[in-house]
Amino acid sequence: MKLFKVKGIVIKEVQYKENDKIVTIMTDKLGKISCIAKGAKKNNSPLLSTSQFLVYSEFLLYKGTNFYHINSAEMIESFYNLRIDYDKLERAFDVSKLLNKLAYEEDEETGILSLFLNTLYIIENKDKPFDLVRNTFLLKLLCLLGYTPRLYKCSVCNEKMFSDDTNKVVKYYYDRTTNSAVCQECYNKIINNNKMEIRKYKEILEGTLYAMLYVISSDIKKVFNFDIKGKTLNEFSDFVNEYYLSQII
Ligand SMILES: [Zn+2]
Repeated sequence: MKLFKVKGIVIKEVQYKENDKIVTIMTDKLGKISCIAKGAKKNNSPLLSTSQFLVYSEFLLYKGTNFYHINSAEMIESFYNLRIDYDKLERAFDVSKLLNKLAYEEDEETGILSLFLNTLYIIENKDKPFDLVRNTFLLKLLCLLGYTPRLYKCSVCNEKMFSDDTNKVVKYYYDRTTNSAVCQECYNKIINNNKMEIRKYKEILEGTLYAMLYVISSDIKKVFNFDIKGKTLNEFSDFVNEYYLSQII
């Protein structure tokens, strides 16, 4: 019997038969997987704690016909302080739902587990607005799944969106139909040619564009190392959600 050794966190648990559970685990090496945790509901089960929602462990698994089975598990982190705080738990539940919906089954290693653990750490320990945490997580997750919006260069003239001339007053635009950035010059040309095109575009604040580019290009471990608030945060959240809906639905 081949055993798989993986690190992973339980992102969903469903009761199964009298004493068993089916858990969804986000792993480092196998993507998202479904596992049977046999006897996990019994008080003396060695899987009692490691098969719980949001417990991060090292698992030894073997593959059955339809599911993986947990052979044994050793807890690494229980996120205890998150678990005992209802507001934090609710936030963690919200990002877990997104992960559960979007992550691919049995995918190769992409850094998604690391992003999720980092997100839980931020929710547990940092006092950041949840809108910022959730939407940073969501945008980075979409990038890791292969959906990266094209914002670094203008999609029409291919020049960098941010010029080195900082004295120039510029506006930035976003093409909703291609999910890409467009510079002011190209935007003006297009609109002058055909006024009807205006509905394809949305002006985007410089701070929002910076924030989105930061999330897209930053290392997973540093993805939360920025702050935006007020209008910029609202726009950032709206953009991420609009982008998410345009890609997924
Ligand atoms: Zn351009």
